Amino acid sequence: MFKTILVPIDMAHVAEGKVNIDFAVEHGANGADIILLNVVEEIPGWAAAELPANLIEQSRTKAKTDLQAIANASGLSMDVEVRSGHPYKTILDVAKDKGADLIIIASHQPGLQDYFLGSTAAKVVRHAKCSVLVMR
Ligand code: ADP
Repeated sequence: MFKTILVPIDMAHVAEGKVNIDFAVEHGANGADIILLNVVEEIPGWAAAELPANLIEQSRTKAKTDLQAIANASGLSMDVEVRSGHPYKTILDVAKDKGADLIIIASHQPGLQDYFLGSTAAKVVRHAKCSVLVMR
């Protein structure tokens, strides 16, 4: 059984994330730590000038509120993490920092089933040091 399970959630596709959380709850060890993570992507400097100054901060705050609501709705205690950076690198960093023994990730955005794996999922599978479960 897994003891520390990281569930990265793309806030544009929360429904998939909830399926992954349910799986983590069912398959985690009794008392397993479940960590919900959203990575807010950084905006390149050349584009940032055109956007409201606090856009990233607002996105982080909203992601944190939404993830916390998902955690609360589960009725279980879960950690909620929001970080800024590249999604795949940050997922791997958080998995290492938290000592995760399993990452549960969705294979893709809905509607892109013709491809094997999304780019974030593929890089996480390739580089993670712990087990990765790709949900389809
Ligand atoms: P696609 O290329 O079809 O968008 P991805 O590989 O990017 O597929 O996304 C698949 C899964 O990777 C998501 O459902 C989610 O589990 C994870 N993921 C992608 N982006 C993020 C993000 N910004 N924060 C947290 N998890 C993410």
